[in-house]
Amino acid sequence: MVQARNIRKAFSGTEVLKGVSLDIHKGEVVAVIGPSGSGKSTFLRCLNHLEVIDSGSVVVGGATLVQNNAQGVAQYAPDAELRAILRRMGMVFQSFNLFPHLTVLENIIEAPMIVKGLTRDQIMPKAQELLRKVGLSEKADAYPARLSGGQKQRVAIARALAMEPDIMLFDEPTSALDPELTGEVLRTMRELAEEHMTMLVVTHEMGFAREVANTVVFMDQGELIEAKQARAFFEECSHPRIRSFLENML
Ligand code: ATP
Ligand code: MG
Repeated sequence: MVQARNIRKAFSGTEVLKGVSLDIHKGEVVAVIGPSGSGKSTFLRCLNHLEVIDSGSVVVGGATLVQNNAQGVAQYAPDAELRAILRRMGMVFQSFNLFPHLTVLENIIEAPMIVKGLTRDQIMPKAQELLRKVGLSEKADAYPARLSGGQKQRVAIARALAMEPDIMLFDEPTSALDPELTGEVLRTMRELAEEHMTMLVVTHEMGFAREVANTVVFMDQGELIEAKQARAFFEECSHPRIRSFLENML
């Protein structure tokens, strides 16, 4: 579904991604873990063009988002193609980023109406189904300010799903939440995984990584140190840097 090859990214001369490669297969849930500052968010943001990479390639569903030109410099797809590829990816951030002036329902239908040109009537059944899915049917007309953090995040998930993405990218979707609200968001994500949504999840939730992810990826200092089947990752865990990280987490 997504092939990232040799992604390099520097901020003002400091390289924060030092040639990261990862394959995400259709229906797979990949958890990305690693210390603060290791480049997890930057890597995610490079996949969907929130950051512009210096070199490397990203292919999404067979379509090339970016690849090196003859000089070894990252060259992005032409605009229309680029936008079409990015539309296949839904993103959920730590901070919910809902439109505060729109109701829950309006937040969900906004992008399909504007980007896909659907009418309100066309998108409504899907929007209602998504609200049911995230357990917020009764909040359709509420404004984000009246929701709990967990509810906001579930709206953010529904909003991303409304675009019918092929893959969902999550960057620490629960780390801004009080512990008692984390579970409801993880439950929604677990349900998505059970429906075989392809997901890349940066998380500090080791339980989620162990139980829901198929593959766990460990990043440290801008490098992808290990990508392993989840159970094997936690049980074998041979790498000293990973072991010391996990000892601090668990
Ligand atoms: P955390 O677990 O704290 O979220 P992370 O693994 O997501 O950390 P990144 O946010 O990807 O780490 O940051 C990787 C490195 O890149 C850090 O050293 C960070 O300071 C740096 N960095 C990230 N974004 C920028 C930016 N826009 N400008 C300059 N430096 C940046
Ligand atoms: Mg981060």
